[in-house]
Amino acid sequence: MNFLKKLRAKSVVRNVEYHKGKTQKKNLEELLFRATELAGESGEVCDAIKKYARGQRNMSGGKSEKESIFAIQEELADTLICVERVAEFFDLDLEKITKLKFNATSKKRGFKTKFASYE
Ligand SMILES: [Mg+2]
Repeated sequence: MNFLKKLRAKSVVRNVEYHKGKTQKKNLEELLFRATELAGESGEVCDAIKKYARGQRNMSGGKSEKESIFAIQEELADTLICVERVAEFFDLDLEKITKLKFNATSKKRGFKTKFASYE
């Protein structure tokens, strides 16, 4: 089982824990909640990068490089978890659709770098 499939399986189980033992129905309210989580976490990535940039510019409100990178990695991980939760809502295979989109962009731009079908 690849990482994204494991992440999905664990996120589904953990979501029940978040809801104190109740399984959430896949309805519009749940989708909008997941989308809001995703927007929040991706915003946190940008905020962590902003603080990194402040630190690099020696500005007030900046963080050290070590603190910044830790915060950025935490928020990137949160964001990936949220992306996977949205993909799970629609029963989408995130690995498959990402490879297809990567290849489509490479084709559109005339790049050679693509995923092979067996990867
Ligand atoms: Mg976060």
